[in-house]
Amino acid sequence: MGTTVEDVVIVGAGIAGLATAVALKRAGIEALVLEKSEGLRTTGAALTLFPNAWIALDALGVSHKLASYTPSRKNHVTDLDTGEVQTVSLIKANGDAVGPRSVHRKALLEALADELPIHSIRFSSKISAIDTQQYEGSSIAIVHIENGTVIKAKVLIGCDGVHSVVSRLLGLSEPVHSGRSAVRGLAVYPQGHGLEQEVRQYVGLGRRAGFVPLTDKEIFWFFSGTTPAKGTSLAKDPEEIQKEILENYAKDLPPIYLDVVQHADVSTLTWAPLMFRYPWNVVFSSLSKQNITVAGDAMHPMTPDLAQGGCSALEDAAILGRHIGTSFKQNGHVLVPKEMSEVLSKYVEERRWRVVFLIAGSYISGWVQQGGSGWGMKFLRDAIFYKFIFPKMVSYVNYVDCGKLDF
Ligand SMILES: Cc1cc2nc3c(=O)[nH]c(=O)nc-3n(C[C@H](O)[C@H](O)[C@H](O)COP(=O)(O)OP(=O)(O)OC[C@H]3O[C@@H](n4cnc5c(N)ncnc54)[C@H](O)[C@@H]3O)c2cc1C
Repeated sequence: MGTTVEDVVIVGAGIAGLATAVALKRAGIEALVLEKSEGLRTTGAALTLFPNAWIALDALGVSHKLASYTPSRKNHVTDLDTGEVQTVSLIKANGDAVGPRSVHRKALLEALADELPIHSIRFSSKISAIDTQQYEGSSIAIVHIENGTVIKAKVLIGCDGVHSVVSRLLGLSEPVHSGRSAVRGLAVYPQGHGLEQEVRQYVGLGRRAGFVPLTDKEIFWFFSGTTPAKGTSLAKDPEEIQKEILENYAKDLPPIYLDVVQHADVSTLTWAPLMFRYPWNVVFSSLSKQNITVAGDAMHPMTPDLAQGGCSALEDAAILGRHIGTSFKQNGHVLVPKEMSEVLSKYVEERRWRVVFLIAGSYISGWVQQGGSGWGMKFLRDAIFYKFIFPKMVSYVNYVDCGKLDF
């Protein structure tokens, strides 16, 4: 088969890959996105996006397409061991709700994919190997697809998720299992669920569960805890997952939560081990090498305790697009390979400490919230963590400066 040379090749058409392609398109660069699946992967049904994700979606010019998803107005956290409920208002003084919004994964991916020319996403294209070669005095990537196609790329961006081939090439450590797994799904109420747009969470020793309305008929719910690892029969059979949640892991949760799980559309249920990369690996590793870098879970897999994996993938995309786009514009709308090493280093510099914080903050947040109700842990959680640390973490997480993508 012949070899073509592309300006930018992105591996993976998940949130990070599609959003990066949209950011580049705003600069006038047509990236080629290679995806191993036959279509967009919507596993996980929905996800929660915090205001920082919305800042990135604004920069990408797609937030208006998701405007029907409204922000939550309150967050209720119930301590499963004591029954105490902490309620936080998510409404500003002017009456606007500023809470997170839960969106269908499919709606988010389609909103991004619809921005791209149809031929720019190539499905059923699994990357099997990557080499490098000299081209016009600098390094370019040679991407091998399983079907035998070989593509040369002036810039290669790995958005290929937790088990990223590209991050391995950069020498990043393999993600580790946190010891916890999570179930996610949608509950469907054909006659309407009648609940307010509020987040409800339940935390106890080694467990965290919750739900949030997506629309007036659908609710996104989750359960995470120290559960059997993926690979058990439970992981494969959605009806068995639902039964186990109802009759075992969550049987003592309030009836409102159990009702939501009972209304699950089992076709949306997924069971996933929670993986993360040690933050010190992100501090000390090369997150880019010459013209190759990574974004999203490929760079910073994290536990979902701050719900930031997808949000930070959108941040990566907007910021990476800005760096590459600025160089493209300054060079008269030409991508100059020998500039790319420095351009990607600047992107990495801008991202490194924020994603280190997000990985560590997510892990610590999960550990404190699910540490049980022993005297010491309760004091740490209620008197220190929720009062002083958590509000600061949330305000840091909620804001990111993505800059503008108006080239
Ligand atoms: C239980 C759970 C709950 C979560 N909740 C939230 C939440 O509420 N909010 C939030 O922001 N985040 C949440 N996340 C995290 C979020 O889902 C991820 O961070 C996000 O999907 C990462 O996007 P990505 O594009 O980097 O990777 P992915 O979504 O994994 O996409 C990677 C893509 O690359 C493709 N690919 C992989 N290898 C190859 C290859 N060799 N060749 C070609 N293609 C390849 C894959 O098929 C896939 O389409 C949650 C995660 C879990 C597990």
